[in-house]
Formats: sequence, C-alpha cells, structure tokens
Amino acid sequence: MSRPKVVILGAGYGGLVTAIRLQKLIKADEVAVTLVNKHDYHYMTTHLHMPAAGTDHHENARVAIKDLIDERKIHFIKATVQQIVPEEKKVVLTDEVLTYDYLVVGLGSETETFGIPGLREYAMTINSINSVRFIRQHTQYMFAKYKLDSKHKEYLTIVVGGAGFTGTEFVGELADRIPDLCHMFDVDPSLVQIINIEASPTALPPGLPNDLVEYGMDVMRRKGVQYKLSTAIKACEPGGVLLGDGQFIPAGTVIWSGGVRGNSLLQDAGFHVQRGRVKVDDYLRSLQFPDVFITGDCSIVMSPEGTPYPANAQIAVQQGCNTAKNLYYSLSGKPLRPFAYDYKGTVASLGRGEAIGILKVKKVKGRLAAFLKKIIDARYLFLIGGIPLIFKKMIFKQKQAT
Ligand code: FAD
Repeated sequence: MSRPKVVILGAGYGGLVTAIRLQKLIKADEVAVTLVNKHDYHYMTTHLHMPAAGTDHHENARVAIKDLIDERKIHFIKATVQQIVPEEKKVVLTDEVLTYDYLVVGLGSETETFGIPGLREYAMTINSINSVRFIRQHTQYMFAKYKLDSKHKEYLTIVVGGAGFTGTEFVGELADRIPDLCHMFDVDPSLVQIINIEASPTALPPGLPNDLVEYGMDVMRRKGVQYKLSTAIKACEPGGVLLGDGQFIPAGTVIWSGGVRGNSLLQDAGFHVQRGRVKVDDYLRSLQFPDVFITGDCSIVMSPEGTPYPANAQIAVQQGCNTAKNLYYSLSGKPLRPFAYDYKGTVASLGRGEAIGILKVKKVKGRLAAFLKKIIDARYLFLIGGIPLIFKKMIFKQKQAT
C-alpha cells in the first residue's frame, strides 16, 4: 500500500514549523512528506528591517532549509508553486505536479497596494532577502548619486509609506544607519530626510497603549524621523509621492509598508478569501476543502470575540505546531485538536537599543524591551534549530559589509 502523502507549501514561519514538528512525530517510512519553497533557505521576515536598512547582514536573517529538516523524513523541493487545484488534490510547480492526501498552505502574504497608482512600479517593499538586498543597495546608490549631482537634494529623502510594524521597525533602523552613510559618502546629515507617512491618525503598530506610542514617536523624532499622520499617499511616481492634499514629496527612495494580503494563489484556486486570506475552521482547515490546512498570513483565525486575530509570526508559529499535530492525528485516525491562540504579547523595535511593547498585559519600553525582542528572536531560533542556531545567527553572526 502506498504511503499517505502530505505536501507543505511554503517554508516560512507556518510551513517550516509544521514540517519541523511533523518530522518529530512520524517515522521515516510512514508518511511521504514534501516541503516546497521558492528558495532553499528559510528567512525570518521579522528580522528583515535590519538588512534592509543596512544595520545587519542579510545572512543573519536566513537559514538553509536542509540544515533544519530531517531529509530522511521530509523531501524538500526548491520550486515556485504555480497553481493549487484542490478539487483534484494536486499542486502545480514550475517543473512538476504533486498530488496529496493532505495539503498545508503557508505561502505567506503579498503586498496590498489598495490600488494606489505607481506603488507597484516605483516603491520598494520589505518582504524577502532579495528585496532587502535591493533596498540597501538602492539607498547607498542614492547617496552616491547625490555626490555626483548635489543640486538633487531629493536623492537624500527616503519616504516610508505605512507606520505599522514593518514601517516603524525599518524607519528606526534606517535612522541609525544614516550617520554611517553620511560618513561613507561625505554627506551633511542635516540634508537627509526620513519621512514616515501614515493614513491613520497614529503611528506604530496598532493595539499599543497611547503612552507607549508617544514614547515611541519621541524616540523616532529624536533620531530625526518626520511623521505625516492622517495623510494618504495618492500616487507614487518615479521621483516621489503625491499626497492626498495635493503636496508632492520628491524622494529618491520610496518604501511601501502600508499593508499585506494573503497569497493570490488561494483566490486563484477558488478558495473563498477576504483580502486574499481564507477563513479556517477550529482545526485550521479550509471550510471548503477539509484536507487543506492553512497557516500564517494566508489564514483568518477568529478570536472568541468574533474578530480576526492579526496576522503575525507569533500566530503563524503556533499554527504550525497545531497543524503538525493535527496532520499526525488525521493520519492516525485520531480526533483533531482545536487551535487556541496563546497571545504572549508584541514588541516592536525602534532601532538600536530601543523598543516598545506589551508582554501579556505588562508594558515594556527602552532597553528592557529591546532585550526582550532579542529573547523573542532567540526563542524562535531555538525552536527551529536549537542552541547552535542561536550561536550562529546571534553571537558569531555575519558582519555587515559596507
Ligand atoms: P512567511 O513567513 O512569509 O513565509 C512564506 C513562505 O512561502 C516564504 O518562504 C516564501 O518564499 C514562500 N513562498 C511564497 N510564495 C511562494 C510560491 N509561489 N512558491 C513557493 N514558495 C513560496 N510579525 C511579528 O509577529 N513580529 C514582528 O516583529 C514582525 N515584523 C515584521 C517585519 C517585516 C519587515 C515584515 C514584512 C513582517 C513582519 N511581521 C512580524 C509579520 C510576519 O513576518 C508574518 O506574519 C509571518 O512571516 C507570516 O508567516 P507565514 O508562514 O504565513 O509566511
């Protein structure tokens, strides 16, 4: 009799943790598990703001997948998923077609542009190792370009659209990086502008109390960040952004961090989606196709209060753990275990040595919060790769090249 087939799409937080946990539960010849990912490495999205700003090497934000999985139990395929066909239980990859008994979709998110013209063409986004390499190089290039043609002061203006988690963490790092860039390129720091534009009336990740938000914005302003709140970007053009009030901000660099939506492959496959995300049952399965588990940014999990939990790495990791167990139970004919989100808190970095956040209900800020952020990072590295990975990525880490 052939072995049951499990296919896991995406080796991000949700997909990778599913694979790592599942390999601990199964024997090598029991189940045929295939993990598919676009790259042969896993990247920690929560770390990407640092290499994007140039304050850390991108190597510290990624880990080779072969170093994390047990290849006797998990077959890894480096490929891009082209199509999911749930009615036929198959997945189309670049060069082959896979069939499955159970599918896990952990393909993450895509940029939400809200239809703003020009964003897709002229703004950069922080969403992969390749994107952050590009942003870092582009920012440096604009400093170099300014030195060749110093009447274009706008080359030194960096606009960041969106002041949520990603925008805030990036802007904090970037402000720390500016003195080095000015030193490297002999640029007067007073000419550099970092402008963070946000449509809602407050900056910083939603859900934080007002006093922490004020603290965070003070820290950022002291670093030289300018905020434009309650301000919508109406269009992005090659030389800058047009605001809702008609003002045009000339800028050499525009980064968009204003929103994400679930991976479009789900909608294309006929799943019912809301902003690209699929509402799942208590066991994280699709309501339409119960042999499909959906994790992370692709899924919508409702809280007991009836509102969707925000998509983040924390919930994606917990979903991965739950999905691994439920795959095992499904394969062994045991009752499934419902998913219960254990919210541990949120900590947002504001750059070097500064952060703000909530741990359960306790507010944290400053150096303590920054230290806790490092603990959170270390905890995740431990979960996927044990103590050696903490040493490799946090202690003996790769130095950023100038
Ligand atoms: P991901 O981790 O994005 O993984 C998706 C995987 O699927 C990737 O490996 C990708 O390469 C792969 N993939 C995508 N499409 C295909 C395809 N067609 N074929 C094959 N493979 C594919 N959350 C927090 O909780 N705390 C934070 O501090 C935080 N900071 C963030 C900072 C930034 C800059 C960003 C962008 C996000 C941040 N988030 C944070 C959100 C968090 O990173 C996401 O919620 C989380 O990554 C979702 O996990 P996931 O498993 O759904 O997807």
